[in-house]
Amino acid sequence: MQFEPVIGLEVHAQLKTKTKIFCGCSTQFGKSPNSNTCPVCTGMPGVLPVLNKQTVTFAIKAALATHCNINQESRFDRKNYFYPDLPKGYQISQYALPIAEHGYLEIQIEKNAPQRIGITRIHMEEDAGKLIHDSVRAKSLVDLNRTGVPLIEIVSEPDIRSAQEAGAYLRKLHAILKYIDVCDGNMEQGSFRCDANISLRPIGQKEFGIRAELKNLNSFKNVEKAIRYEIERQTYVLGDAKPVIQETRLWDPSKNKTMSMRGKEQAHDYRYFPDPDLVPLIVDEKWIQDVAKDMPELPDEKLQRFINDYNLSDYDAQVLTSSIELADYFEETAAPLKEKKQAANWVMTTLLGMLNTKGINITQSPIRAKAFSKLLLMIEDNKINANAAKIVFEQMLNTSKDPVTIVKEKGLEQVSDQSELETMVLDVINENPDEVTAYKGGKTKLLSFFIGQIMKKTRGKADPKVVNSILKSKL
Ligand code: ADP
Ligand code: MG
Ligand code: ZN
Repeated sequence: MQFEPVIGLEVHAQLKTKTKIFCGCSTQFGKSPNSNTCPVCTGMPGVLPVLNKQTVTFAIKAALATHCNINQESRFDRKNYFYPDLPKGYQISQYALPIAEHGYLEIQIEKNAPQRIGITRIHMEEDAGKLIHDSVRAKSLVDLNRTGVPLIEIVSEPDIRSAQEAGAYLRKLHAILKYIDVCDGNMEQGSFRCDANISLRPIGQKEFGIRAELKNLNSFKNVEKAIRYEIERQTYVLGDAKPVIQETRLWDPSKNKTMSMRGKEQAHDYRYFPDPDLVPLIVDEKWIQDVAKDMPELPDEKLQRFINDYNLSDYDAQVLTSSIELADYFEETAAPLKEKKQAANWVMTTLLGMLNTKGINITQSPIRAKAFSKLLLMIEDNKINANAAKIVFEQMLNTSKDPVTIVKEKGLEQVSDQSELETMVLDVINENPDEVTAYKGGKTKLLSFFIGQIMKKTRGKADPKVVNSILKSKL
């Protein structure tokens, strides 16, 4: 029997507020343990939570960017469970009435075939603390700095059908949250975390199968790998006519496997109920309008603009708008240039190629956009040729010197002076009578031999276009 995967993703994104969701403590990462705490976020008796308005504004922004309906009235609920990193014994979340519902985002895997992935809901909640297990002293320590840091949870519809689609959805969602500047997107620090729900069903069947929920997926690559593994595992189980068990599984990146963490029997009953300490949240039309007015250009809009204004292909525009930092880098580089397409090529192949080999991202690029732009401007103005540009690029990487200075120091200015090159061409013709005869006899491929000779004489600095035309006329 052939099976089809059904996947739904839950993403927790940490919001970039300065203070926590229900108290005035700082959200700054990396502070000494328990220094960002107060009686509210450590769950002392008798305290009351006060909702951080910025949290709501950020949630509205995320909801608008993902085409969600915003509920005029939403509510905070208590999600009850016991764990040492949760001092109150419950997490304040939104359950029955979340801030936003019924949205979607678009992914594109095949050319010209965009797909919509539904978003079921977005709700706000507080983060829990962090346990640090000290195996040497056989003790566990708790750090409550993260307790009460605001999160939004974005729950997708089970519309995803492959690991690749899941990866595309996550990358797109990540890009959107960074474009609208509500989340720093740092996956290593846990600012953007994902759980994946996966089931299989026989192709053609309408009902969904039993799902497993995967946790501990802390990179896009790991999400894709874990889903692939899980699809294979469930195919094997079902192929054996055994049932898939509804359970939570942990991805182990060192073993490249998922392992059972807890079954349905051990699943929590959270006993959700409305938090009596918080009034219902009312979001009026004006608030939504104010956030909408402030909305920056979103990835899909930027993509269209890059295609229209810069004449880029759909593919190039996809790559260059995939992150806000890359898009900004490209635009800053291309700004003074006439040849936008040329700038796109250099950014996508030479620059991204280099970053890839070094394993760093665009924000860590040793060549800043302004300097890169100067290099490309020299090419555009015919001051240096492609050979020289490669040398300058390498030098910029190693020395972070200004490209104009490098060209001066190394004497890399292109030789395009007509009379200077003409003299050289005549010399080369006189020095190579046999090749000239052969060329005239029809071996036109020898043109590149002559160009090579000129390049030798100018140490690679001749303008190939000028050389070409002089050669053709003199030969
Ligand atoms: P829970 O409260 O247990 O997390 P939800 O019903 O809120 O469950 O669903 C969580 C996620 O699981 C959603 O993204 C949803 O699309 C996905 N999901 C639900 N049922 C299935 C299924 N049978 N197969 C795959 N994903 C599913
Ligand atoms: Mg879940
Ligand atoms: Zn606090």
